[in-house]
Amino acid sequence: MRDLPFLKLLPASWQQWLPSWEGKVLPLVVCVFVALFGMDAWHLWQVYDDSIEDTGVVTSNMARSMAELAETTIKTGDTVVASLAENVEAEGASPESLARIYRLMTQLAAALPAVHEMGFLNERGDAIVKSRLPDPHGINYTDRGYFRFHATSPDRGPFIGPPVTSRVDGTVNITVSRRVNHPDGSFAGVVVASVSMTFFQALFDQVQAKSGGVIGLIADDGTVLVRSPFLPETGDGTVLRTHPLPRLMSAGTLDYISRIGGIRRLGSFDHLRDYPMATLVSQSRQDSLSGWRAEVLTHVIVLICVMIVVAILGRRVAKANRALEELAMQDSLTGLASRRFFDQAIEREFRRAARYRRPLSLIMIDLDHFKDYNDDHGHPAGDDCLRAVGRAISGCLRRPGDVAARYGGEEFAVILPDTDAASASALAERMRQAAQALYACTPHGVVTLSAGVASVAPRPGNAGWQTLVQQADDALYAAKAGGRDMIKLYDPSPTRTGATQSAA
Ligand code: GH3
Ligand code: MG
Ligand code: MG
Repeated sequence: MRDLPFLKLLPASWQQWLPSWEGKVLPLVVCVFVALFGMDAWHLWQVYDDSIEDTGVVTSNMARSMAELAETTIKTGDTVVASLAENVEAEGASPESLARIYRLMTQLAAALPAVHEMGFLNERGDAIVKSRLPDPHGINYTDRGYFRFHATSPDRGPFIGPPVTSRVDGTVNITVSRRVNHPDGSFAGVVVASVSMTFFQALFDQVQAKSGGVIGLIADDGTVLVRSPFLPETGDGTVLRTHPLPRLMSAGTLDYISRIGGIRRLGSFDHLRDYPMATLVSQSRQDSLSGWRAEVLTHVIVLICVMIVVAILGRRVAKANRALEELAMQDSLTGLASRRFFDQAIEREFRRAARYRRPLSLIMIDLDHFKDYNDDHGHPAGDDCLRAVGRAISGCLRRPGDVAARYGGEEFAVILPDTDAASASALAERMRQAAQALYACTPHGVVTLSAGVASVAPRPGNAGWQTLVQQADDALYAAKAGGRDMIKLYDPSPTRTGATQSAA
């Protein structure tokens, strides 16, 4: 992580605590995935919320409009009933006045499609005038709730009854009725108008065809008065209790499981101001979220594509990184391990030697008078010579854990795990001889090298590997000082580093 450019702005002491992502592509790819996924999930969550909110706004507007409409229609019925009651009370029940009332009723019925039928019943519940029947005699309404209410209550206000099936044509209607009094205030009968549910059904069907969803008119006792789309089980006024819906008082939104089809629905209701019923407009949750679902699908597809591209690019970058790392670990001229590889290997081997309490040896090699060689034969020939010496050195190694590296210029280093000083010196001598036997490429006809050998049996807590390198270097210096073309083993005594082999 400390490789990220913006984090380089942090103080160095902070940077050291950050993990290095150099060459580690996978965590970066995972971070990109998580970031993309997180952003997308957040966005889709917002869209989801908006979809639900939009459904609430649309359905509550419609519920309000439908409630206004129902209110106005029922009020029209009530106005008709009030004026008819006033007429009957003013003119009495003489045959002439009843004939006039009948004409008035038929005119009003023709002008008001929402009012299905009007009628006047006497105090015994007998039909006296009915807008749809010129001769209604013989029909009695004492069993109707509204009649019983007016017969027993002096209330002059309107009474809105539950849905009833017409005895004239079998249609379902709700009744609006008022009491008619004799001049002395005693009960004289009832004027009633029935508001047609078929009228509402046609109206709701028109709106529903454009908006979709469900539009309903529900009485306070839970009776479904009208439902669009029309369902036979609600069309005849069969009582469908609103359970599990709460009573639809005032206005609000609902999220419920419909009893019809068991579908989860989102909707709004609005109670009529003056009448005991409410409108309910709802959409199936599935329909409300269809736009959101389509967006989720698009996003998932795009996200998968982006992730595939990022994964492919990440793989390529990781591969390129590995190749670069391998290149950095190999010396391009000799094909031996690079100085970088050497630094990592010596540290690793030093720790391992300390852990298993095994010896570790190091040979530092420097070609003799190589500057002269370059001067005499030119740099390209010097490079050839370095390659040949590299091959000779690595040719002497037998164990897979041994590492021959080009330390720099014409210097080589050989790490020998689990090898004591004597074996390391013997190996160094073999290398010296192998180099010498190469071919005549110096003024003297041979390539010679000097080598310093140091060996250590590290213990946990011992001085680091740098000391071992320093000791091998000291031994090499001693070999140079001793006349070159020789091997010196590091001698810890301050005065001397002993030559173990020499071939000058
Ligand atoms: P000494 O015996 O004291 O080591 O004498 P030297 O001439 O080898 O001295 P030194 O080690 O200081 O010189 C290193 C020379 O090695 C200098 C440079 O010309 C040569 N050299 C270093 N790297 C390369 C390389 O990559 N290719 C070639 N051709 N020559 C190199
Ligand atoms: Mg040198
Ligand atoms: Mg040299």
